[in-house]
Order: sequence, then C-alpha cells, then structure tokens
Amino acid sequence: MFFVLSHSGPRSDVTSTVMGMTTSASVPAGPEGAISAGTVTDRLVDANARYAAAFTDPGMDARPVLHVAVVACMDARLDLHDALGLELGDCHTIRNAGGVVTDDVIRSLTISQRALGTRSVVLIHHTGCGLETLTEEFRHDLEMEVGQRPAWAVEAFRDVDQDVRQSMQRVRTSPFLLHTDDVRGFVFDVKTGLLREIDPA
Ligand SMILES: [Zn+2]
Repeated sequence: MFFVLSHSGPRSDVTSTVMGMTTSASVPAGPEGAISAGTVTDRLVDANARYAAAFTDPGMDARPVLHVAVVACMDARLDLHDALGLELGDCHTIRNAGGVVTDDVIRSLTISQRALGTRSVVLIHHTGCGLETLTEEFRHDLEMEVGQRPAWAVEAFRDVDQDVRQSMQRVRTSPFLLHTDDVRGFVFDVKTGLLREIDPA
C-alpha cells in the first residue's frame, strides 16, 4: 500500500552505481539488486566525506538570508534549491508528504518567523502527487492491518489547486504566525519544471 506513494520500480542504475562505489570492506558485496538500507546510507556517508573535504565554513547566521520559508511536498522529483534558484542559507525548507500544512508545519513556521526572522511563506504542491491517489480509507486500512488507527489525517486530496488554496488559508489564519500577508501557493509541474501560481480566491 505504501508503494502507491513510492517511486518503486527497477533501480538497477542506482544499484550498479552503489555497487561500484562501495569499496569499504565493511560493506558486503551482494547480488545485483540486493541493496540493503545500510549500503544506501553508506553511499550517502561516502558522499558526505567528499562534501566535507571541500567544505569551508561560510560563517552564516542561522537566519535565512531571504527571510522566506518554503513548505513543499517531499517528492523526490522536486529539487527546491535548483528549481527556485536558492543558495545555501537562503531559506527554510519544510517538507512532508503532500506539502500539507499540518500542526507540525505550523510549529516550524512559527519558529521560523518568531525565532529566525522569516516573513514570507511559499507553498509548493506538484503534479502527480501520491496523495491524489489515496483517500482517508488509508487510515482505516492501516487500522485493519496493524490494529491501531493513526492519530494523523492522511490529508489526501482530489484537486491539487484546491489543496494549495486550503494550505494558504491554513497559514493565513494561524494565530501563531507573525506574518501572513505574503503567503503564495504554487503547483510544480514535474514534467516541465515550471511553477504555476494558484489564485487564493
Ligand atoms: Zn507529492
């Protein structure tokens, strides 16, 4: 069921890359396609070692340079920094399944604005989101499977434009935020890379 949301399918390209890069003796050589969680993480840790080797402390303040917080879906096809021309230190990025404005997103936005000086909020949903294929039945199915219903809502939606509008509304009406006058919402097209702005009305 969770595979509805995932980008499953053959990943032999990644597999071969991983296998080619895992020279550490601690990583067992497995058959093609048998990536354990450890080997993927090892790949990331290896990449970090190279990153850190070239890294120089930019001496930045934690306050985002552009005073903006971006709330977006966690979708793997959405590279926020590249897509929005953002540099290190420019913004807060808050991501979850769907880019939904949950209580926890409001928590992060509240801290972002009140403790770290952001003033603008950008909301980004996208085409082909996994949440369009789910319903709240997902919670019921989970309960049937594991014997416990999750406390959280799935926040599935049918109309991405309307969901962006609802998200904007949740931000604008939050009593905890200092700045709700510059809240804009968009749908990112995963095929063209373009943002389409959603009229809040
Ligand atoms: Zn999504």
